[in-house]
Amino acid sequence: MEKMGIEALLALDRFNVDEKVPHIEIDDTACLNCKTKPCLFICPAKCYAEDGEKIRFDYAGCLECGTCRLACRQLGNGGVVQWEYPRATFGVSFRYA
Ligand code: SF4
Repeated sequence: MEKMGIEALLALDRFNVDEKVPHIEIDDTACLNCKTKPCLFICPAKCYAEDGEKIRFDYAGCLECGTCRLACRQLGNGGVVQWEYPRATFGVSFRYA
């Protein structure tokens, strides 16, 4: 059996995105002044991206690992102002090959 790469494994997961209540919110102002921006490198789902000076964030593909919350507080500028698990029935469903 051939080993699957991380991208292929992530593509197996399913997401029920809560369009009304984001489970993670960021403060763009704090991100603007952040020198390290660890979110850009640490998120396994690549939910964070640079958009000029700003940080663009999309929680739709979030794996709910919590890494950005810790990294932002410890290494960044505290731009992640809310981090909760999605409401019941929403969020990621992990599937395995
Ligand atoms: Fe990315 Fe994990 Fe943060 Fe979700 S919880 S945005 S997957 S680092």
